[in-house]
Amino acid sequence: MPKTVLVVEDDAMNMKLFHDILESQGLVCLPAIDGQTALALVRQQHADLILMDVQLPDISGLDLTRTIKNDSALRHIPIIAVTASAMRGDEERVMASGCDAYVSKPFPMMDLVGLIRAMLGDRKFAHA
Ligand code: MN
Repeated sequence: MPKTVLVVEDDAMNMKLFHDILESQGLVCLPAIDGQTALALVRQQHADLILMDVQLPDISGLDLTRTIKNDSALRHIPIIAVTASAMRGDEERVMASGCDAYVSKPFPMMDLVGLIRAMLGDRKFAHA
């Protein structure tokens, strides 16, 4: 059974990129273009991992992360936050929201793939 990654991303080009990367890894991409859609999907469907854009049109990805991590039925799902910039203080702010890892755009795709694999508990990639 392929693992499913909920991708919360409002930018269509980034969504396509994430979709293609996940598909190339044999993973299922569950797309959500805003926070409300993401919250509905994560409550209705199974997700093994969440890729969370921090800047969304309706609510902050960090607020959404806090909501998910405050929900006992959902908090086990690992969340990788994706931010547009590596601004000073961002990492602390992002990690304080409760997400499990953090990447800053632009990032090497193979780094992201390795991180996704590691967080899905894929031993083959865990030490890459
Ligand atoms: Mn965005």
